[in-house]
Amino acid sequence: MLKVDNLRVSYGHIEVLKGISFSVEMGEIVALIGGNGAGKTTTLSTISGLLRPTSGTISWKGENIHGTAVETIVGTGLAHCPEGRRIFPGLTVRENLITGTASRAYRKAEVEDDLALVFELFPRLKERIKQGGWSLSGGEQQMLAIGRALMSRPSLLMLDEPSLGLAPIVIEQVFDKIVELNKRTGLGVLLVEQNSAMALEVAARAFVLETGSITLSGSASVLANDPRIREAYLGG
Ligand code: ATP
Repeated sequence: MLKVDNLRVSYGHIEVLKGISFSVEMGEIVALIGGNGAGKTTTLSTISGLLRPTSGTISWKGENIHGTAVETIVGTGLAHCPEGRRIFPGLTVRENLITGTASRAYRKAEVEDDLALVFELFPRLKERIKQGGWSLSGGEQQMLAIGRALMSRPSLLMLDEPSLGLAPIVIEQVFDKIVELNKRTGLGVLLVEQNSAMALEVAARAFVLETGSITLSGSASVLANDPRIREAYLGG
């Protein structure tokens, strides 16, 4: 469904992605793990059209999307839930969710259906429907950011560090929801995480990104038992 081939990205003269290749199949959860500054966020931003690669190809549903505008890409079912959540503090929960529909021509009934799905997944958001975004807890904001991305009816959701700044119990809840969503709707997920243990638990396959190159890849359960991964990312 998504195929990244030999992707190179630079900031000025500094190359931060040095020819990475990977793919995500329909309905699959794939994790991209790696330390600080490895290039994980850059990878997602390039796929979603926010950054231009210097070379390489990104193919989405069989089409090359290199150079396609961000809003066009979202409209084709590729959603990006950015690091730090970026919800609108001055808008209510409902209004934040509605902003997620901006990429497609929608009918009111469809929006209500999609809101119902989000509220079924995240009942806490329904309880807080009229509250300002600013008043939500970190976990609730993360759920709102995921819910907002779902409002674009994606077939692949790219999630950047959903665990960032959340308490362990809340991280468990967020990851449970990601798995539930994948099982119920067949949504594919490309998950970028520094919390490698959680990421490897929910993903089918994973890629390890180190200073701009993919150094290891394979089944998540095999990688979770690989001594190199255990040593570097899972605390030995
Ligand atoms: P983290 O988990 O810390 O966010 P990451 O794996 O997501 O790390 P990136 O944010 O993609 O890594 O950054 C990759 C490299 O590119 C880092 O060395 C970073 O300092 C650099 N970088 C990121 N954004 C910019 C920018 N706008 N201008 C210049 N360099 C940048």
